[in-house]
Amino acid sequence: MSRLRLATAWLGGCSGCHMSFLDLGERLIDISGSLELVYGPLVDAKVFPEGVDVALIEGAVANLENLELLQQIRERSDILVSFGDCAITGNVTSLRNFFSVDDLLTAVYHAGPGNAPRSDQAGELLPELLPRVLPLHQVVEVDAYIPGCPPDPERIWAALSALLKGEPVQLSEDQRTFG
Ligand code: SF4
Repeated sequence: MSRLRLATAWLGGCSGCHMSFLDLGERLIDISGSLELVYGPLVDAKVFPEGVDVALIEGAVANLENLELLQQIRERSDILVSFGDCAITGNVTSLRNFFSVDDLLTAVYHAGPGNAPRSDQAGELLPELLPRVLPLHQVVEVDAYIPGCPPDPERIWAALSALLKGEPVQLSEDQRTFG
């Protein structure tokens, strides 16, 4: 039986969801025979590969790079999982939605302690920010959700175990939510 091709990606998030994933520790080693990690912070792959079975996506869609990567992930993955509350609702990442992008950059880079001139800001140092931070399902179709900030490792394990057994994680509304 071929191994499940798993990818993880980190969009507008703090990496806490990935840290929780790593808390699975030895259990990840135990299932390495059934699972191949093909993309993510732990893998030296520059381009999101074709033919991914499951993609766990941490973080919300905050900038143009996030948007383009998420669209590519959707095209190349059978099952796309919204991984953690930032991906599901926007959560912490979307707090900046109370401000315009211009006001935000001015407050952080120009009026902040560094007092950087505006010419050193967006376009040179940062990917282009979207006007509003969006949860994943407002950009692409999402097949399953793993809630939490970060999701509890046991919840991640339950989801991964179901996927490895070939149990359905999409289709009905009940099956779209783990935990
Ligand atoms: Fe970080 Fe929580 Fe967002 Fe995960 S859901 S990226 S842990 S803030």
